[in-house]
Amino acid sequence: METLENHINGKRQLPASGNYLEGYAPATGERIALIPRSTEHDVNQAVAAAKEAELEWASLSKEVRANWLDRIADALEECHDEIARLESMDTGKPISIARAVDANRSVANFRFYADLIRNLEDQEFQMSDATNRVLRRPVGVGVLITPWNLPLYLLSWKVAPAIGMGNTVVCKPSELTPMTADLLMRVIEKVGLPAGVVNLIHGTGAEAGAPLVEHKDVRFVSFTGGTDTGAVVARSAAGSFKKLSLELGGKNATIILDDCDLDRHMDAIVRASYLNQGQVCLCGSRILVHSSIKEKFTRRFVDAVEHLRIGNPSDESTELGSLISPEHLSKVQSYVNLAIQEGGTLLTGGGMPCLTDGLEGGNWITPVIIDGLAPDSRCSTEEIFGPMVTLHSFNSDDEAIKIANGTRYGLAGSIWTTDLERGERIAQSLDTGMVWVNTWLHRDLRVPFGGVKDSGLGREGGYWSLGFYSEATNICIMKDE
Ligand code: NAD
Repeated sequence: METLENHINGKRQLPASGNYLEGYAPATGERIALIPRSTEHDVNQAVAAAKEAELEWASLSKEVRANWLDRIADALEECHDEIARLESMDTGKPISIARAVDANRSVANFRFYADLIRNLEDQEFQMSDATNRVLRRPVGVGVLITPWNLPLYLLSWKVAPAIGMGNTVVCKPSELTPMTADLLMRVIEKVGLPAGVVNLIHGTGAEAGAPLVEHKDVRFVSFTGGTDTGAVVARSAAGSFKKLSLELGGKNATIILDDCDLDRHMDAIVRASYLNQGQVCLCGSRILVHSSIKEKFTRRFVDAVEHLRIGNPSDESTELGSLISPEHLSKVQSYVNLAIQEGGTLLTGGGMPCLTDGLEGGNWITPVIIDGLAPDSRCSTEEIFGPMVTLHSFNSDDEAIKIANGTRYGLAGSIWTTDLERGERIAQSLDTGMVWVNTWLHRDLRVPFGGVKDSGLGREGGYWSLGFYSEATNICIMKDE
């Protein structure tokens, strides 16, 4: 079992309170870590370290900062297997996913932003009598708060552009999945990044996250997590006009049109529903199927889901792991019960899979499919964030759009059709930040990422992240004569 430490001003540090949280492996229930239970005292030290490092770091050229990002990427890549192992153990996700999704993307995030920032040019706008030059200056000290479902993937997505643009940061990873954030700090120490540029505080949202957001010296907050927590963060940041990016929850629709090629797309539709046990903000937890193919689709979908291999996350062949915590498992189970109360039919799943070898103590549930619920029922509109999908039918494109848009969320969606023009037309009518046609979670790191309505505020990704992690300053210079 490991005892983790905070990372402040280039040094490992115990929490001032001397108290620790216990970290458990979700697949077994085994205790794997003691996590600093940091409080305001630690927060103040971390912010002070970031503030102290601010001027010198900001004074470096973008090329020098981009070189640091590349060095971090190289050192992270050397730990590729370790990232996958820790992430799988800490989250309960299959090792193959931890490798292909989490480890690969964490390295790629640093490389991608190194390139983008190195090649970033100041914009210039000519007038007949003057030149406008737009500089991108650092914002200052920032706080980066991340959830448990894609721990290093999301943390690296924030750290790389934030420090690349000349800011210094304090990270606050989820208290449920601190292991790879700790690994990133070890990598940062190893490459010798100047002290104070990246600091990390472990602990709960209330004790460590809230004082970070409130801190007077913090100028921006990038938060990824639940919508209700996002509202608390937004209220707290508003008083001091901190720059804010909120990436929040979703209730995404997967729309299957009558001309969908099921042979070709069924595996991808199953993946869109259950990747990471449905614990991806982009997962399609509502499947809307054209009524003419509903019966055929349902038969094939249930069959494919029942064949998913659920079990030991460290087995290479495992496709579904465990849920993150006993509390989250109870939440998903309560939605299965609610679905039945709301008049739905349980087509499959909802039980404990038959597991041995210590996995009996983990947070397991077989993937759930519910049919027959009204599109405006609670189970069809609230974010469950687990391996549970509701099926609905529609008779026209307009009806599909109306159902898809009928939630408080607006993060993402996907449309499956052989008619790409029809797919794109429907995509333009969805109230979401992102829509895929005949694919899902197909990511180009240059494109904007984020949601509308209660799914968030602002966009990250590509130049959108560079915009958030900087202040645009226009200098207008009058020409001679
Ligand atoms: P959460 O909101 O409970 O916690 C997220 C982070 O916020 C954690 O680090 C937590 O400690 C911290 N936190 C909690 N209260 C806080 C407070 N008052 N002040 C500051 N920080 C606080 O979310 P979670 O359960 O860890 O993650 C699941 C949620 O994240 C889901 O709703 C999911 O949709 C969402 N999510 C969104 C995206 C996206 O890009 N839109 C990506 C991944 C996850």
